[in-house]
Amino acid sequence: MESHSYDVTVIGAGPGGYVAAIRAAQEGKSVAIIEREALGGVCLNWGCIPTKALLKSAEHYEFLKKASDWGFETGEISVDWQKVISRSRGAAEKLSGGIGFLMKKNRITVHSGSARYLSPNRIEVSSAEGETIEIQTTHSIIATGARAGSIPGVEIDNERVITSREAMVLPQCPESLAIIGAGAIGVEFAYFYASFGCKVTLLEYLPAVLPASDADISRTLEKSFKRQGIDIHTDARVLSVDRDGDRVSTTFEKEGQSTTVETDAVLVAVGVLGNTENLGLEELGLELENGFVAVDGHCETSVRGVYAIGDVNGPPALAHVASFEGIHVLRHMADREIEPIDYTLVPSCVYCQPQVASVGLTEAEAKEKELEISCGKFPFAASGKAVATAETDGFVKIIADKNSGEIIGAHIIGSEATELIAELALGKSAELGVEDLHLAIHAHPTLSEAVMEAAADATGKATHI
Ligand code: NAD
Repeated sequence: MESHSYDVTVIGAGPGGYVAAIRAAQEGKSVAIIEREALGGVCLNWGCIPTKALLKSAEHYEFLKKASDWGFETGEISVDWQKVISRSRGAAEKLSGGIGFLMKKNRITVHSGSARYLSPNRIEVSSAEGETIEIQTTHSIIATGARAGSIPGVEIDNERVITSREAMVLPQCPESLAIIGAGAIGVEFAYFYASFGCKVTLLEYLPAVLPASDADISRTLEKSFKRQGIDIHTDARVLSVDRDGDRVSTTFEKEGQSTTVETDAVLVAVGVLGNTENLGLEELGLELENGFVAVDGHCETSVRGVYAIGDVNGPPALAHVASFEGIHVLRHMADREIEPIDYTLVPSCVYCQPQVASVGLTEAEAKEKELEISCGKFPFAASGKAVATAETDGFVKIIADKNSGEIIGAHIIGSEATELIAELALGKSAELGVEDLHLAIHAHPTLSEAVMEAAADATGKATHI
């Protein structure tokens, strides 16, 4: 059997794996990456990137529907659905090709196939063509990601009972769609399909949409979605999903009452399962926890020298967390004394409209920890730029330590929330306080002034409210 030897071997070429591989190569290590599907993983091919392309189409369509408000008469607007989908696929393909280029540039060997550990330092790779090679490696990084989960009794048929993967490439826009789960995937697709005229029913088991968000954010998003015509049921327990030909019936229970909605399709978006199967992890004696690979604060598994990064090591399942973990792991290989990862610094972004973004604790979490806090809030309705560009929905909310002013959490809902959160994530990681944000000069007119004003409000000194 053909045999190769590397300093670092990465399994999975998503944003965790390929970033870790590049960083390892930059540090002079010999590196291999093993991938059974496309370079770029779910993020580039079936997640972050193609969905952002779809959501931009929805935003443009929303704009066109209101074009006359801006002084344009368009006549009737028609949608070329195939083009909406193919533009999204094109964006994914382009970026996946770009990863291939980066692998070459960094002299990283790409092995196409499925990996399986024979021992902590030996990995077997079987290609789709039936060829097998063996890799000897000093360190390895498991970055195999995750896949959509379901709920007991609900079978995904990939046609009418679907996951986000199929929802990205439906042959036409369904007239009606039920979405189970109002997490990131559920709300992004609710916005997308509702924009294109689909009757969307959003079912969430917990009491709020985006239930992990600050309560003010969830409430505001729910109101906005209702205005957009999305039918929302929170505290809703799905009892069954039954397909009959071209129709699907979803029955759910809310406040002791059972209701059935009939739709063209059902999207199941209830979280993910780690891709831990067929990797030989059991033989390695590697510990799992709730179906994910158990790791310490440095992403090292229970087997020394074997790391697991990204979705496969459990929540938060976010591309930027995977990439950060990949870089951290390389730092840890060089110096085992570094500080563990601080997950309170991770920003989280959801790209429906209005967008949602946050970092750190929610107000409820801060109160639960009995922290003495001061909350600052600034609505976009009071922002000059937002009024000029008709982006007045939403607000910036900052939760600060009452005494030191340190940023404990920040939450934004509004049209550019996912870009605006970067300032607050940087501020939090640099341990800046609300006074620093207030006194930093923000350009006028920009939406970022709302961050400055919310910071000022936390100190009782907002100017424009
Ligand atoms: P999620 O965990 O974010 O949300 C799942 C939701 O489903 C939760 O609100 C949960 O309460 C609800 N739920 C669970 N069981 C239910 C049931 N039986 N009936 C009704 N509701 C139920 O998961 P997701 O939305 O599937 O996304 C998967 C992962 O991908 C998440 O970790 C998410 O953060 C990530 N993701 C992130 C983005 C982004 O950052 N923009 C986009 C897409 C996905």
